[in-house]
Amino acid sequence: MDIQKRIDKLVEELKEANVKYYVNDEPTMTDNEYDSLMDELIKLEEKYPEYVRKDSPTKRVGNEVISAFTKVRHTTQMFSLADVFNEEEVKEFDKRVRKEVDNPEYVCELKIDGLAVSLEYEKGVFKRAATRGDGIVGEDITHNVKTIKDLPLKLKDPIDLEVRGEIYMKKEVLNKLNEERAKKGESLFQNARNAAAGSVRQLDSKIAKERNLSMFLYHVPVTNLKTHYETIELLRENGLPTNPNITKCKDIDEVLHYIDEWTVKRPSLPYDIDGIVIKVNDLSYQRILGSTVKYPKWAIAYKFPAEEVYTELEDIICTVGRTGQITPNAVLAPVKVAGSTIKRATLHNYAYIKEKDLRIGDIVSIRKAGDVIPEVVEPILTRRKDNLEEYQMIRHCPICGEKLVPSSSNIDLFCPNEKCPARNINALIHFVSRGAMNIDGLGERIMEDFYNMGIITSIVDIYHLEERKNELIELEGFGNKSVNNLLQSILNSKNNSLERLLFGLGISGIGAKNARILAKRFKNMDNLIKASKEELINIVDIGEVLAVNIYEYFRSVDNLDLINKLKEIGINMEYISGESREDARITHKKFVITGTISFMGRDEIKKIIEKYDGSVIGSVSKKTDVVIVGDSPGSKYDKALALGITIWDEEDLKNILTELGELEKV
Ligand code: NAD
Repeated sequence: MDIQKRIDKLVEELKEANVKYYVNDEPTMTDNEYDSLMDELIKLEEKYPEYVRKDSPTKRVGNEVISAFTKVRHTTQMFSLADVFNEEEVKEFDKRVRKEVDNPEYVCELKIDGLAVSLEYEKGVFKRAATRGDGIVGEDITHNVKTIKDLPLKLKDPIDLEVRGEIYMKKEVLNKLNEERAKKGESLFQNARNAAAGSVRQLDSKIAKERNLSMFLYHVPVTNLKTHYETIELLRENGLPTNPNITKCKDIDEVLHYIDEWTVKRPSLPYDIDGIVIKVNDLSYQRILGSTVKYPKWAIAYKFPAEEVYTELEDIICTVGRTGQITPNAVLAPVKVAGSTIKRATLHNYAYIKEKDLRIGDIVSIRKAGDVIPEVVEPILTRRKDNLEEYQMIRHCPICGEKLVPSSSNIDLFCPNEKCPARNINALIHFVSRGAMNIDGLGERIMEDFYNMGIITSIVDIYHLEERKNELIELEGFGNKSVNNLLQSILNSKNNSLERLLFGLGISGIGAKNARILAKRFKNMDNLIKASKEELINIVDIGEVLAVNIYEYFRSVDNLDLINKLKEIGINMEYISGESREDARITHKKFVITGTISFMGRDEIKKIIEKYDGSVIGSVSKKTDVVIVGDSPGSKYDKALALGITIWDEEDLKNILTELGELEKV
């Protein structure tokens, strides 16, 4: 698209969103969508200054006042805050500050999700309250602010004071209000900010009083004090409500620590916050740093990653799994949610699409809460275009063209063609995966390449790779060493205990846990092949459907032929007790190791964890279950503390390994 046209479009869209948000208190896009459009506009304007429009929303705070309220001209401008979205951008802010001033100390505050207010006190007596408006002119909301219980009408000291802060609504108050509105059939408030803003901008103060609003104050624009923190203390001394979590940070590392801490603790607060505000503490430094027309240069807002965003459902494509199961997937216009860019999300099955009536071209909401993979929540019907057609599920396999068949429960569709290439590749990828035969060096991409080149088209081919060694070494991205490692890993896999092979064969419904149960119970492949349906049904945890699947699997000539070939190759068909073990503290858990463990090498610890079906990963995130901390740990330790992840020190690790009898073995 032509740059100027794109800039015009962004300006118009953002201006319209501003009116809906600031004037009507009824936004039509999510904050995240707004922030992405704004980010795009800021970047385009930086790159193409010749196209910057005078009325650009990047140049003005909020929106011009269009209402029945008396207008108030602010004595000093009320600013917005520049947003940053990740650790790197916080560090860049610190660098920019350090270019101008030495050793800046910061103050970190929770970014309360409400609306800005400016209060004026004359000789200690409350006189007037105004909204931010466009930063220069706001609306007089004195009558409504007087109803807020947190507001002292008289200060302790008889001082003249202009003070700024945030009016907000507690989560509990919002829930009650929405419950009442639902009962009366009235529309619900989308969030606490809109509810607070809507309540404050009422002509009748009775409504504001009923809404039970709260307030925190955090800024004194004119003062003789030396630091921002001292101004907060002044507010506290005078009985003005300030947030108890305002903290001084001596450097940017402490700031990052504060961010990590509140990222975790945020849900426990009784009110909503949408980020952390970072301010330079020294007021003389603030003056040196100055401001742009819209933002102070001495502060930034770190915005938490959004957990629910809107984006376009561009297409629905179906993939074929290793058991032939068809899964519809959403192809989304790329969007950032909870910190990562999402382009795809599973739609599970046709019933899911039908229930939600998802249509290609819809704007849909996407959510990623906690550790859950992104999910398409629903289409936004108010934004549906007229011509969108109901989605029709495919009837034939997208890969081999075979007619699809429904599952017994009628929820899923399957490609019945055992030789469908998609099924084959996925089955091969699964066979070598870590939980199954654990063959290193045959990742998804390599497997796809090998399949397409005809090098591996069946499980048996994997065990004949040795014969094609010279050919492999010649391939791009491969060398002597990586081929040798791969061949060694294939060789090692021949000695795996039976459950790995059972899981790797991809018998419908048999996961790692059931494979282990079967291996333990039948001890070897032949016993399992001979097992009757009744014997299988009687195993706790297996159940009738799985029992039939297993029984049928071993009645197929092709499957028995494959097992015989694997036997001939020398693949172990016995259960090796103790090779794979289980312990609730390790099994299926994700570990990170940091620092040096004195009594054992990292590789050995990793092997033990994997034996128990746990995994060792490289970096700490909310998904990590345990961080093992040795001597001189790195920043992973700090991150684990901030995220509240379980920590094992050397002693803990030693005790657990001793208890499991693993220490005597090394
Ligand atoms: P902002 O909300 O990103 O940040 C500035 C504001 O933060 C201040 O004015 C103040 O009110 C508030 N704040 C809260 N705690 C604070 C603290 N401790 N110290 C200082 N300030 C604190 O900026 P903005 O200009 O008010 O609003 C822009 C944002 O509003 C956008 O990023 C977007 O998220 C949202 N918005 C959404 C839509 C929409 O359609 N969804 C439209 C317009 C704006």
